[in-house]
Amino acid sequence: MQALKIKGLVLFGAYVLFMLLTMGMYWWNIDAFRDRLTTMDEFHNVLSDILETRRYEKNFMFYPEPNSLKEALVYLDRAEGTVEVLRPKIVEIEGEARYAELRASIGEYRTLLHSLAGGDKTVAVRTREYGAGLVRTAQDLLREKQQRIHSALDRIKFMPILVMLTLLVVITVVFVWQARKILERLNYVQRAAEGVAKGDYEAIQHLRSEDPISVLMRAAFTNMADELDKRQEQLVEARKLVSIGTLTSGIAHELNNPLNNVSLTADTLLEELDAMPRAEMRELLQDIIGETARASEVVRNLLDFSRAEQRTLRPLGMAAVIRQTLKLVGNQLALGGVKVETDVPVDLPDIRGDMHYLQQVFINLFLNADQAMEKGGHLRITGRRQGDMLCVDVADTGCGMDKDTLSRVFDPFFTTKPVGKGTGLGLSIIYGIVRKHGGSVGVRSEPGRGTTFTVCLPIQDGGGEA
Ligand code: ADP
Repeated sequence: MQALKIKGLVLFGAYVLFMLLTMGMYWWNIDAFRDRLTTMDEFHNVLSDILETRRYEKNFMFYPEPNSLKEALVYLDRAEGTVEVLRPKIVEIEGEARYAELRASIGEYRTLLHSLAGGDKTVAVRTREYGAGLVRTAQDLLREKQQRIHSALDRIKFMPILVMLTLLVVITVVFVWQARKILERLNYVQRAAEGVAKGDYEAIQHLRSEDPISVLMRAAFTNMADELDKRQEQLVEARKLVSIGTLTSGIAHELNNPLNNVSLTADTLLEELDAMPRAEMRELLQDIIGETARASEVVRNLLDFSRAEQRTLRPLGMAAVIRQTLKLVGNQLALGGVKVETDVPVDLPDIRGDMHYLQQVFINLFLNADQAMEKGGHLRITGRRQGDMLCVDVADTGCGMDKDTLSRVFDPFFTTKPVGKGTGLGLSIIYGIVRKHGGSVGVRSEPGRGTTFTVCLPIQDGGGEA
């Protein structure tokens, strides 16, 4: 926020500075123009003084009155005085040499004027020549000055246009640049929101700009993702309980079998306690111990699965994941008349994953398959390597899905099952878990023929080539 304020202040400062500079330049130009106008007046004075000098010079030639000569010299002195004052300007326009020449001409003209009284004809001719020459020089200077004033006027005239154009270009550039940034940010928001909605939090990292707004947005999204992550974990836990609920009949059955066996064996033992040979008795007791162990394994499996644990990715064999999962769901599937075929070779390379989360993925897939095959069917679980990924296909021969259902299966809360049977969270949770493992999940389905879900997970580094 602080950085944003500073940025705003800097921009405002730059704008004010630009305006002040423009106004300053305008002021300076007007001032310089006024100065030039005054100088032009001075140049004009020089010309008129020289013309006056020439008028008295001519008068003197026609009526040789000493007064005319005096007047001519007065005007010439005045002209020379002004020329001296104007020296820097004349040097600027014509150069030092021309100034010296002008001064010399004035000097020479004065000398000639003084000599006019002698009545010498050649002096008179030379005086006229010098006078005419001086008039031309003064006219040239005046013309030159006028031209300079015209170009200064042009500059003043075009300056506002130039300033406006510069401002327009700068504003356009800033606008386009900002518009691009805004578009980039909007794209980011769209991408990140879409990604987050699907549980893909990587989309959040794509905004690379380091400007304050982008940093704020990224922080807000990352924060949101963290919160969603926590919620997702809570959902996974909640969903676990739901699946345990669904598994109850299977598990009850699985516990009932060993318990029945224990009870039957114990009954037999009690009835024939006296007549039974010791060796047979030992065998029956071994059976009881074996059956109890089976029952406690079922309970341990269930407890293992329901325990909320910190997620840690470690090398895992996919065959073990499927085996462990089937221990939990196998009985449920068998009860529903589902025949399970597993082809997940143990020598497939390890993946990096978390056993509990992956169990959750496959339990959801197996239970969905079970529910899709109400009258029983086949469930095929196949593991294979595909490039850097290890993929597991879970194919059932159930009811399948139409295109509309297929396009929405991963949406949270989308379900086609009646209330109480479906929450619509199973597949969206699977999607989230698989994405967090850096993998992907896909689905193919044909109504009436069956569905295949494919879960692909990255192979643990150093998994070797296929
Ligand atoms: P729920 O199972 O609670 O409905 P899911 O997210 O697991 O939620 O599944 C969403 C929907 O996808 C299901 O309601 C069902 O219509 C469809 N579906 C999922 N798996 C299968 C499958 N194996 N065969 C047919 N339809 C399925």
